[in-house]
Amino acid sequence: MNKVTKVLLFSGGSDSVLINYLYKPDYLVYINMHTRYSEEEIKKIKNSKFGNDPRLRIIDFPFLGQYEREDAIIPLRNLYLPMIICNYFDVDNYGDLDICLGATAGDRVLDKSPKFAEDTSALLTYLYSPQHWIPEGRKIRINIDYKKYTKTEMLKLYKAKGGDINELMHESFSCYDPIDGQECWCRNGICKPCFRKYIAYKLNGAYFDPSIDVSVCEAIKAEILPQIEAGTYGRAEEEKEIKEVLKLYEKEHPENIGKILYKNNNHRHQ
Ligand SMILES: [Zn+2]
Repeated sequence: MNKVTKVLLFSGGSDSVLINYLYKPDYLVYINMHTRYSEEEIKKIKNSKFGNDPRLRIIDFPFLGQYEREDAIIPLRNLYLPMIICNYFDVDNYGDLDICLGATAGDRVLDKSPKFAEDTSALLTYLYSPQHWIPEGRKIRINIDYKKYTKTEMLKLYKAKGGDINELMHESFSCYDPIDGQECWCRNGICKPCFRKYIAYKLNGAYFDPSIDVSVCEAIKAEILPQIEAGTYGRAEEEKEIKEVLKLYEKEHPENIGKILYKNNNHRHQ
């Protein structure tokens, strides 16, 4: 029997930071595909506390970047990456591999789907079956275990394991539209990642300055609530959490019930 090495494909974004705490991988791997965001992401990781993490590996793989589409999708990306991991972490030193893609509930691309994970695990394990060059064989598992949780649910698990929610909130930064290094929720209007982050952390009891609560919740009231009420929002799980956040907001800021304080028309949250 081989030992099993756990490898997380790590981007430094808030979901992958969170999965790191839940999954407890032996290695955090950033594969530098030389995309539009690679340099920025690497800089962010190096400046974060993960920059000095002995588990961190940055693997240079420039080939894929040239095939990045306008929408940032790289076809077959998650088929290439496990193959790279398999070669980098060889059987003699690392044994079997559990490769966590860091997939989350919002991921809809097929190369993070259950069928993909199952079929790719089977194919890679088949290619590493016992044979003349690898008599002991090797098992490879593509792990998408965290896909079944929303961000809010993952944070709940993190808290249950003794994690500090406020500390984590400051560790992870994924704003599309920052002002002076601060999240965009410091002013009117909010980008999609900050919006998701606010909902998940607020529902798990994180502390936000009251001015941020007002700015985010008023944006939700003005722009998202009407879509939910009209039945056009189309994300059932998220809707439930948004309504919970608004209930909390009414409790904390009863003075704003029935008012519309939102003035921004940039529609940045979409
Ligand atoms: Zn933002």
